[in-house]
Amino acid sequence: MPTEKRVRHILSLSGGKDSAALAIYMRDRVPEMEYIFSDTRKELPETYEYLERISSYLGKEVTRLNADVGFDHWYEMYGGMIPSNHRRWCTRALKLKPFEQHCGDEEVINYVGLRADEERSGYISHKPNIKPVYPFRDDGLVLRDIEGILRTSGVGMPPYTKWGRTRSGCYFCFYQQKIEWVRLKETYPDLYQKAKEYERPYEKTGNFFTWSSNESLAELEQPARMEQIKREHVIRIERKVARKENATLAEVFAQDVEVEAPEDDDDQGCLVCQL
Ligand code: SF4
Repeated sequence: MPTEKRVRHILSLSGGKDSAALAIYMRDRVPEMEYIFSDTRKELPETYEYLERISSYLGKEVTRLNADVGFDHWYEMYGGMIPSNHRRWCTRALKLKPFEQHCGDEEVINYVGLRADEERSGYISHKPNIKPVYPFRDDGLVLRDIEGILRTSGVGMPPYTKWGRTRSGCYFCFYQQKIEWVRLKETYPDLYQKAKEYERPYEKTGNFFTWSSNESLAELEQPARMEQIKREHVIRIERKVARKENATLAEVFAQDVEVEAPEDDDDQGCLVCQL
């Protein structure tokens, strides 16, 4: 009799709400689930605490990938090039590759936290042995359900949402909106400063890149510029509230990240970091 092929079940946590809720949702449905977290070593401190909280709820270890190298290693390898959505080496080097290496050649079912109310497509591995599945989408779960799962479990929303950040991933992620840079500056001035230090001509190539489009962090942190960004953000939110008559202000704020497309509308790779 041929022996049955082993199939691994893997759920990748990003530190964001959707993957956290999916882990909770799947805990008793797939007891053999493996939980992983691809650590860039540039996450917010509270993300590590949140992962601890999720791990306690699951009663399982969350395996950290990238144990030996983090963002800075690859930053050097890429010649001091700050990533962007056109130069998104970070997702590939820090998230996708470690994940595929962790899977190896074994058959893997990869659980992805895309919701039924999202248009985005998730990470589809090109490796034939990795099969992505979307339980929330298949079961028709939307944002309110995800919030309910997190609330009921006691795990709660990711802590960064309390200070108005809308995304997990590196504290300096180039997908941040301008208002999120302002909030980072106000909440973690030390991390803002560290992000700013990457914006310098790289000694080996002379390249100079910025995290945020069309301005450096030194320009963005000027008090007048920060006030302008805040004012523009309030106007934008008010417009959205006016357009979405049935939504509360809180809901519009919560969904802000999802209704504001990144500049070239190409956010597929960062789903790995931000689900
Ligand atoms: S969070 Fe942003 S900067 Fe960090 S690896 Fe993901 S896409 Fe790159």
